[in-house]
Amino acid sequence: MIPITEYAGRDVAVYGLGRTGLSAAKALKAGGARVHAWDDNEETRAKAEAAGIALSDINKRDWQTFAALVLSPGIPYKFPQPHRLVRMAEMTGVPVIGDMELFARAVQALPERGRPKVVGITGTNGKSTTTALTGHVLKEAGRDVRVGGNIGTGVLDLAALHSNAVYVLEMSSYQLDLVKSLHCNVAVMLNLSPDHLERHGGMDGYQAAKMRIFQNQTPHDVAVVGFDDIYTQSIAIGLSASGPQRVTQISSTYTLGKGVSAVEGRLYDNLNGKAEFIGKLEDCPALQGRHNFQNAAAAYATCRALGLDPATIMAGLKSFPGLAHRMENIGDIEGVRFVNDSKATNAQAAEQALRSFRNIYWIAGGVPKAEGIGPLAPLFPNITKAYLFGQAEGAFAATLKGKVAVQACGTLDRAVDQAFRDAKASGDASPVVLLSPACASFDQFKDYEHRGEVFRSLVRAMQPAALKESA
Ligand code: ADP
Repeated sequence: MIPITEYAGRDVAVYGLGRTGLSAAKALKAGGARVHAWDDNEETRAKAEAAGIALSDINKRDWQTFAALVLSPGIPYKFPQPHRLVRMAEMTGVPVIGDMELFARAVQALPERGRPKVVGITGTNGKSTTTALTGHVLKEAGRDVRVGGNIGTGVLDLAALHSNAVYVLEMSSYQLDLVKSLHCNVAVMLNLSPDHLERHGGMDGYQAAKMRIFQNQTPHDVAVVGFDDIYTQSIAIGLSASGPQRVTQISSTYTLGKGVSAVEGRLYDNLNGKAEFIGKLEDCPALQGRHNFQNAAAAYATCRALGLDPATIMAGLKSFPGLAHRMENIGDIEGVRFVNDSKATNAQAAEQALRSFRNIYWIAGGVPKAEGIGPLAPLFPNITKAYLFGQAEGAFAATLKGKVAVQACGTLDRAVDQAFRDAKASGDASPVVLLSPACASFDQFKDYEHRGEVFRSLVRAMQPAALKESA
């Protein structure tokens, strides 16, 4: 834990007691603050109490006594409208901050030479993968690395600050909205596309929140910026023109004159204006698909900025095991590969997997999103047959009609069973049974992780005994 001493002896309100709220409450308490922790949800409050957090209904307190309101990133800050407690804080002059800001200030409070390195990673897609990947490469290289933030462990639950440590932190737009003091030695912006617009008052607000990852950077720092979409292209150019930091462009689409490129999975380092071939990403099993080439290029550029040499980084990219439920290779049975992409809860995410394979036996379904699977039509030729389940069955079958063979399966277990039989009998070269549902999961599962775990155990149940032992 990183104890927060800034508020020692003072009253601090913590509102929203999910994963990050709880860690903020504990860190503030450990640092000597009088913490007033609250959540409107009774179940969440009970969990917080069980975790040793004393509750205090901040709706009924004198707000003049609070030195700060620590807001959970899940709670509306400005849009669609500020939460009533944010308004209360504003009326009483109480600063509203988040856990990432507490971390940033704790780092800044150290003498310059005693500060750890901070790597911030954001973007619309690929944040978790790039964060885990960067952490993995650094760890394999022997660095004292701590990985967390919006992935896994809340930032204040990570091991205490140390000058030799590197904190690799995934940052969401909601978290970035609540920071002022954040100073990233390396700040990564992978890509941008319209997302969460209701919480940011539109694309400008969303982009402005994301841009906070670059604030407070100096000429000693590096901004790693994707060059694959129009939003990040203009950010890269704007920062190169007038930002204080050094800018490294990365791309999985273009061979850059200066930067890091991973076009067609061929990784080139052209940071110093002279291209050097680093390696083929096809040798990195967990980094398949163009989207992962972007993630790999970003991790490479970040690790270079932290002083790692190309060969060490390439070795780390190769040994990355991948994150569960994101194009996770769960094994081959009788020549059929099984891939778990349960995290693909919309068409945009499923697109990445459908683009990455041929001869796909596609398992899809659940609660469909408004856009359905119409936008995936250009990738239908990669699909041999679709196995549908859940609420989306009818709508998806209608979109696929006449283009892709379809079987309505009702449930995931029937879909897996049928897809395996067909793939095995097909004689296709390298057939892939792919769960990439393009749907939310809650009609039949607790969440996408539960859905992915059920898929994994169904596949394991089909494995011959010898394979199960080694899995
Ligand atoms: P995030 O943390 O930003 O939600 P993840 O790394 O968890 O991203 O990946 C979620 C899904 O998004 C993956 O299953 C994949 O389909 C897709 N994805 C991953 N990286 C990228 C990327 N760089 N660009 C576009 N889509 C991506």
